[in-house]
Amino acid sequence: MSGSGNFPLISASRYLYLKIRMLSQTKIIQNTPVPALGFGTWDLRGSDCEKALESALDAGYRHIDTAEMYANEDAIGNVLRRTSIPRNEFFITTKVWPVHYDENDFFKAVEQSLKSLNLAQVDLLLLHWPKDEKTNIQATEYLLECFNKGYAKHIGVSNFDMVQLKQAQKQAPIFCNQVKYHPHLSRPGLVTYMQDKDLLITSYSPLKEGIAKNDKDLAEIGKKYGKTASQVALRWLVQQENVTAIPKAASRKHQAENLDIFDFELDEAEMKSLANDGQ
Ligand code: NAP
Repeated sequence: MSGSGNFPLISASRYLYLKIRMLSQTKIIQNTPVPALGFGTWDLRGSDCEKALESALDAGYRHIDTAEMYANEDAIGNVLRRTSIPRNEFFITTKVWPVHYDENDFFKAVEQSLKSLNLAQVDLLLLHWPKDEKTNIQATEYLLECFNKGYAKHIGVSNFDMVQLKQAQKQAPIFCNQVKYHPHLSRPGLVTYMQDKDLLITSYSPLKEGIAKNDKDLAEIGKKYGKTASQVALRWLVQQENVTAIPKAASRKHQAENLDIFDFELDEAEMKSLANDGQ
């Protein structure tokens, strides 16, 4: 995955267009560019995953979210092996599953993820879920060791609450906390804290696991801008400082729709109204 060749199936001019467009849709976190919209891969496996990812790369995605637990790192590795998109254009995240939070298993699990992904280093390595305090502290030490070994450019956590996040930060240079975050699930304290500390907030299930398309508030706002309810949900996220979103979309139609959110802006009242919880 090196050189400056074109991704197969797309012309040189489209490749350049996608590259420039992605640059303009990038968040800078601790001096690191992270594409604001990533491609979630939960529930995509085998050839379905390969097909969906090839289509997503062709549509312009360069930020890929996977995990050991998704059982699709091999499929993603196959696509990464085939593509001629340069490695430095990607932002690739994987995660360690809690059953491997002991010394023997942790490094083996990360080394296996790298092997499956066909990478020497991921951009971001996360602890997938917290466990009890003692185990989290141990796992964060192993995560730091992976960072020091060069297995990951950045390290972070997922599904950590404020107390757990602050403890991890005492031990290691935490870059990200990936959490469930979408309109009507606003997490104000955590998000403000992470923005203040210049941490990356990656929103998972940004489309409410697919049901955002039926949300009346989102649809109503979307009418004003000629956008779908799903697009308004994603726009609400990426319009916030330090927030990126990783919707999963198997179809090219949804992949393209989800990327088409950078030509409108929600106003302050709309941003506030979607932060109301419990709907
Ligand atoms: P999501 O992205 O909120 O929703 C995915 C669903 O939305 C799929 O059914 C998809 O259908 C549909 N969809 C996508 N684009 C659409 C559009 N424009 N209009 C209508 N429907 C659309 O949910 P998610 O998969 O739970 O979350 C996204 C990613 O976050 C995951 O894939 C995974 O990478 C990550 N994640 C992380 C954690 C964690 O613990 N860290 C937990 C959950 C998820 P099609 O596929 O048919 O297009």
